[in-house]
Amino acid sequence: MAEPALMDKLVSLCKRRGFIFQSSEIYGGLGSVWDYGPLGVELKKNVKDRWWRAMVHARDDIEGLDAAILMHPRVWEASGHVAGFTDPLVDCRHCKQRFRADDPRIKGTPGEPDAQCPACGSRGTLTAPRMFNLMFKTFMGPVEEQAAVVYLRPETAQGIYVNYLNVLQASRQKVPFGIAQIGKAFRNEITPGNFIFRTREFEQMEMQFFVRPGTDAEWFERWKQWRMEWHRGLGLHPAKLRFHQHGPNELAHYARAAFDVEYEFPFGWQEIEGIHNRGDFDLGRHQEYSGKKLEYFDQAANERYLPYIVETSAGADRVTLTALVDAYREEMVENETRVVLGLHPSLAPIKAAVLPLVKKDGMPELATEVYWDLKKRFTCFYDDSGAIGRRYRRMDEAGTPFCITIDGDSTTGRTATVRHRDSMQQDRVALDQLATFVDERVRA
Ligand code: ATP
Repeated sequence: MAEPALMDKLVSLCKRRGFIFQSSEIYGGLGSVWDYGPLGVELKKNVKDRWWRAMVHARDDIEGLDAAILMHPRVWEASGHVAGFTDPLVDCRHCKQRFRADDPRIKGTPGEPDAQCPACGSRGTLTAPRMFNLMFKTFMGPVEEQAAVVYLRPETAQGIYVNYLNVLQASRQKVPFGIAQIGKAFRNEITPGNFIFRTREFEQMEMQFFVRPGTDAEWFERWKQWRMEWHRGLGLHPAKLRFHQHGPNELAHYARAAFDVEYEFPFGWQEIEGIHNRGDFDLGRHQEYSGKKLEYFDQAANERYLPYIVETSAGADRVTLTALVDAYREEMVENETRVVLGLHPSLAPIKAAVLPLVKKDGMPELATEVYWDLKKRFTCFYDDSGAIGRRYRRMDEAGTPFCITIDGDSTTGRTATVRHRDSMQQDRVALDQLATFVDERVRA
């Protein structure tokens, strides 16, 4: 399939089946802001649940946190975002569109007569680059003045740094330990796009691991491997995942080392998660700006130090997009195109559909009973309309791993047919075993 066509098909499937809608669509939409529909909210929640389980519940050295989006404005001075979280921006005076100055589609030098606008093709209409801060600004309280400025956080990490001593003391953890958080972040991106890949409002899944200086390189290596294993565990094609190491010119001001986990999207290899060795930059800056000591006292070594930080930072929306892109496929079955979302069963929004073969002979009644029983254990969908083949196809498209058909033998023999989404093979399973059968196969 031609690659751009794949994205178009995916966007249309996401709308049709209720995964993702454009924000405020009836008003013409809002640029690069998206809403998750009934299936999308389940899919994204499953992504976040898997992350939380791997990072918090399955370990005893990481604590969870849910810090507020609004923070003291000094936080963003300390973090470097007020001074440095900027992109060079150019405007086209003719078509009024905006671009990042490093947009590869721009020919010539912005600000000079030779520069050509990549949107309308006009020459000499691009302004010289000016720095544009990506943080959304708003005001706290009734007065809109400089003293009341607050920002919508552009990353969740800072909420972790400023709470690190609170969490350390309350949880009685010792270094090395980590703090994990999932939450919204906002960036006024100049060139967002590619569906939910780069949006202005998004969710991050971030973990900051606090280590003794000198042990950071080995922890960094461990986290690199663990995070790659996590992505593979989502069932993503292994050949479409790789590491990208940041060269000296790419490294952020805070980073001692950085690797991205990249996925091969239809629009090229792109970052889905960043793993950074941040040294003591963050705690050092917060100590300086707040005037509060943030050192850790290591009892065993009888010494005080500022821990170094190894960060893992993934986008929940970006991982959701990755799962969708990776799962989408079309197959020819009996001269018809079958669209399948081959999502890992643990990510599938609906785990099982319950389908009475026909609407008579007690089948709908029994199917309803089975449906309500299974719904106590996992997400289920009941469908009795249309030919059974069409009902299967609708579930294939939604990524539902199992279809349970109640037929004539079900009412007498207390069994049902379980059809597998990927192989389309069918098993006969006793009604009282159905919950366990599905449950075992949809767990992470
Ligand atoms: P990029 O270079 O793509 O702008 P970044 O290097 O600024 O990303 P980080 O600040 O390291 O990204 O953010 C960590 C993760 O948060 C990214 O790997 C990505 O998954 C997610 N993320 C960052 N910006 C966005 C965005 N605008 N929309 C959706 N997800 C985002």
